[in-house]
Amino acid sequence: MSNGDRCRSRPFRLIAFDWDGTAVPDRKAPADDVVPRVETLGARGVVCAVITGTNIGNLEPTFFERLDPRRRYCLLACMNRGSEVFGYDDNGNRLLLYRREATAAENQAMDEIAITLRDELAQQFGLETNIVFDRLNRRKIDLIPVEEWADPPKARIGELLEAVNTRLERCQVEGGIQHIMDRVSEEAARRDLDVRLTTDVKHVELGLTDKSDSVAYLLEHVAARRGIQRSRICFLGDEFGPIAGFRGSDYMMYGVTGAAYYSVGREPNGVPEGVVHLGGGVPRFLEFLDAQIQAWETAGDE
Ligand SMILES: [Mg+2]
Repeated sequence: MSNGDRCRSRPFRLIAFDWDGTAVPDRKAPADDVVPRVETLGARGVVCAVITGTNIGNLEPTFFERLDPRRRYCLLACMNRGSEVFGYDDNGNRLLLYRREATAAENQAMDEIAITLRDELAQQFGLETNIVFDRLNRRKIDLIPVEEWADPPKARIGELLEAVNTRLERCQVEGGIQHIMDRVSEEAARRDLDVRLTTDVKHVELGLTDKSDSVAYLLEHVAARRGIQRSRICFLGDEFGPIAGFRGSDYMMYGVTGAAYYSVGREPNGVPEGVVHLGGGVPRFLEFLDAQIQAWETAGDE
């Protein structure tokens, strides 16, 4: 079966997808190819939902504001890694539908954990790190705050991993990135903080939400209210499988029984059971949306 055939599927009523690496090559890239396809699906009554770690300001100029205002109501923007959901009214005006508000104690606990780790790594190992404080409900510990690795593209993840590992080995941080993640977990447990831990290799990130919160919102507030069955929901991403020994960035979308999962990523370490590995990157994602438009035309109005 060719990948083109594998894209052909039942018409889904809720299509949820990752942004970077799935719908666009990177978040600065224009989304001109996605816009007309989402508009067409929206006209059919299909709900399209972006699930991403970034903030709404990064996607509005390239995507949301490019959509016909009369079609924006079909779109949901699940932003900031599970912490916010936006929708649009019939006139195309943005509405905040959900925001996870951190308490002062939670914010303080996240600050304390990040600072504890930074100081500990400096004092115990002589390892210089940097904390990114200004993310909603999240703190990032930058393990390699050097010019060369200021903004590494996904394509260089192999080299990045080597650079970070070398840096940690040089400082004799036994256990490497995993050690730092374990220490964050311990500090969170000490403070009774239910922390969500991730890494993109450059950072260890601790936060209050992750993509599973976006999925939970979609199931509870969209699928349930509109009577959309699980078998009519699909999720697309590019990193369901592990990357560099850690969970891929889309893994937390995985696990909705009955829903369909597709990966357009390279997935060098395979995909979890039940995820269809399409590969092919952004072009394959666009092909998938085209196949959906086709499937809806064949199915007629439901
Ligand atoms: Mg991605």
